[in-house]
Amino acid sequence: MAARVIDGKALAAKVRGRIAEEVAQLRVEHHIVPGLAAVLVGDDPASHVYVTSKHRACEAANMYSRQVTLPATTSQHELIDLIDALNEDEAIDGILVQLPLPDGLDADAVQERIDPAKDVDALHPVTGGRLLRGDPTFIPCTPYGVLELLRDEGVELSGARVVVVGRSILVGRPLAVLLSLKGIDATVIQCHSRTADLGAECRSADILVVAAGSAGLITADMVRPGSVVIDVGTNRNAEGKLVGDVAYDEVAEVAGAITPVPGGVGPMTVTMLLQNTLEAARARRGLPRRPSAI
Ligand code: NAD
Repeated sequence: MAARVIDGKALAAKVRGRIAEEVAQLRVEHHIVPGLAAVLVGDDPASHVYVTSKHRACEAANMYSRQVTLPATTSQHELIDLIDALNEDEAIDGILVQLPLPDGLDADAVQERIDPAKDVDALHPVTGGRLLRGDPTFIPCTPYGVLELLRDEGVELSGARVVVVGRSILVGRPLAVLLSLKGIDATVIQCHSRTADLGAECRSADILVVAAGSAGLITADMVRPGSVVIDVGTNRNAEGKLVGDVAYDEVAEVAGAITPVPGGVGPMTVTMLLQNTLEAARARRGLPRRPSAI
């Protein structure tokens, strides 16, 4: 039987609508306009596309969006000065620095300079430490999007066996931490490029989340019938088409539910950036967090 298709585009539209309503309410009740600053250094075409889409999403949610574009020749010192200025800027609630940075710039040092109260990309070590402690201020956008997709599908997480393929600091590792937090309570197996028998681990999953960056890595024989498959991967195939890490057509015959690529996790990532910016704007003024936020 073919799997249920988890529609990330539809959920993203619904969540963005709710965010826009909350932004309007903040404006009326507290005269606050959440603001996001996106810093782009150099002229990497993909980075330009990402920053533009974040900018548009912010504007569509009636948030303030500032795009700061700097030349590839920008020095570490200049970039740090810019972060300091954005940290002090009252109109800015969230700061993101689009990665990768050009050679010669130290991305870790730049991320660590961001005020943790404005760390909406959730890459600061303080933010990561708080997530690890079970008291997160911000959740990295892609793991947060995966969680929201699972919640919206009504997938039972408590006690479920989740296999996460990938251990990057951006996706796999924070996702594994997030899903095993008290209150979410999944049992998480983290797989990576040195995992001895990836197929056996994946077949044990009630929920399989794949963030490896390897097209077609997960085939039907690696998926337990009826399980939920979330494909984070975005790869270009030989024809230049966007594909995930999961061999979609064959896995959709086995899984109980599956996210497509495109139209699955991707739209939720930008959405959760908006959510984090909204949460930052509220928290910086001492307003309570949204009840369903972790
Ligand atoms: P990464 O390269 O930093 O990490 C990949 C991880 O996968 C590593 O931990 C590695 O050990 C593991 N891995 C690689 N090949 C493997 C294999 N054959 N078997 C088992 N494990 C393997 O990548 P990332 O930043 O975590 O991104 C992963 C993928 O997700 C990429 O395709 C990226 O484009 C995509 N991505 C999508 C979104 C989105 O919004 N849809 C957001 C971020 C990343």
